[in-house]
Amino acid sequence: MGKLGLAFAAGIATGTCLAAAVVVGRRVRRRRRWWRALKVLEELEERCATRVERLRQIVDAVAVEMNAGLASEGGSKLKMLLTHVQNLPTGNEQGIYYALDIGGTNFRIVRVELDGQKSDSIKHDVERMPIPPHLMTGTSEELFDFIATSFEKFVRTLEGASNGSRAESMELGFTFSFPVQQISTSSGDLIKWTKGFSIPDMVGEDVSECLLEAMSRKGLNMQVTALINDSVGTLALGHYYDEDTVAAVTFGTGTNACYLERGEAIIKCQGLFSTPGAMIVNIEWGNFWSSHLPRTSYDLDLDADTPNPNEQGFEKMISGMYLGDIVRRVILRMMQESEIFGPISPKLQDPFILSTPMIAAMHEDNTPDLSEVAKVLKDSLEMADIPIFARKVIVRVCDVVTRRAARLAAAGIVGILRKIGRDGYGGFPSRKKKGTVHIKMQRTVVAVEGGLYANYAIFREYLNEAVEQILGEEVASHVVLKLIEDGSSVGAALVAATHRGSSGGGRSVYEHGQPSGGMTR
Ligand code: ADP
Ligand code: MG
Repeated sequence: MGKLGLAFAAGIATGTCLAAAVVVGRRVRRRRRWWRALKVLEELEERCATRVERLRQIVDAVAVEMNAGLASEGGSKLKMLLTHVQNLPTGNEQGIYYALDIGGTNFRIVRVELDGQKSDSIKHDVERMPIPPHLMTGTSEELFDFIATSFEKFVRTLEGASNGSRAESMELGFTFSFPVQQISTSSGDLIKWTKGFSIPDMVGEDVSECLLEAMSRKGLNMQVTALINDSVGTLALGHYYDEDTVAAVTFGTGTNACYLERGEAIIKCQGLFSTPGAMIVNIEWGNFWSSHLPRTSYDLDLDADTPNPNEQGFEKMISGMYLGDIVRRVILRMMQESEIFGPISPKLQDPFILSTPMIAAMHEDNTPDLSEVAKVLKDSLEMADIPIFARKVIVRVCDVVTRRAARLAAAGIVGILRKIGRDGYGGFPSRKKKGTVHIKMQRTVVAVEGGLYANYAIFREYLNEAVEQILGEEVASHVVLKLIEDGSSVGAALVAATHRGSSGGGRSVYEHGQPSGGMTR
């Protein structure tokens, strides 16, 4: 081989080496990018860890905070609001009652006709409609005019043209699921907005008054007999169906819980009640906070972008309004760190573009190639041609975020049971000896409602599983979580019936110093 030939051969060898180096370099870089995305996932898993020991610390913290909130006004992040609901429906109620239910994504109107006979399933007419988003940040007049107009149409459709403005006033239960300082069972002032609502002119105003004014602008003759929140309605309906029901929880756009409390335990209002019985207490647990809660940078960023930063910390880790957005933030971080998903979609920068039903659809995708995941990513986030491995990573993100939410929710529920002595250890303060159950458990039912719990099967399964893990199999076998469909609205109509004419019908929620369906010791 001549000089020229040698130079040519050397050139080819160098070229081949260079090409090989480029390919290897690309592979290494790509691998490094994969590695970065997986690192984001790994960190998320670590930070969202909810081992049972941690959940038990949260249970204790919930019970401690509940006691603090009962002891003094402002004594805790848990407001422990008095609902003034001291009687629950018995089945003897009669008449036609309406309910309006507002507090998140959907607005519901319900009509029930009660004939004085207890029923296994209360028949009701219901109309559901989404709340137009612009009304959530407008004026109170606009919001309440929407409610009154929708109600008028509903009544006219059901009862004929004349009945909307009939002389006889209609009895109404109003489910308004925002923190309200109740003045009585039927009236109260709005403390603050949550769940993305922000109508400043309404804060401090009497909610029932605002509704009645809007109704009278429409010529409707109404009487608000009960002003409650969604969990209180659910407890009323749950207790009507099953007297072992002692608490209720809602998992929808937001999350909240209430329970039956002995009058003497409500220290902050000792002497205020004429009856020595008991009352449903609205925990307002969305605002619960504890250093044991596993918070991530995504939670911090989300909180900072809401109209109510530093508030509703528990709700922002659990409820339907927020789970999708936590997932979106994680995917965005992964895309910033790594190119495995392709270029960053501008849509992914839009807050709340990825809803919780969308993450549920991805999470519950059973197709072999995760085609539902691909569809959601393409349709909602304009992320096309996402490789199967990246789709699996996204499903994993949905799982981590939803599992954490469900397990924290479970700790909240057991926290209530701890407070009222239904966790098998005699309640707060806990005097448990490891592995010993001191108390003979009686069947305990917690009523649950809300779109997140009703429609997201994996959330529900994780929640039920965690309740059992925290309580242990034996105690958990006495605790039932019962889905009460339309509990928030049908329950409001029932509370209205029970408190008709504010005569305080129904039956005291506590009999002989114990809640009806109470625990025997
Ligand atoms: P609200 O009474 O607060 O308006 P709902 O109880 O009707 O709410 O629940 C609506 C919320 O439930 C939605 O905002 C959504 O977050 C959640 N949700 C509804 N359907 C699903 C679903 N299929 N999967 C997961 N979450 C869902
Ligand atoms: Mg609701």
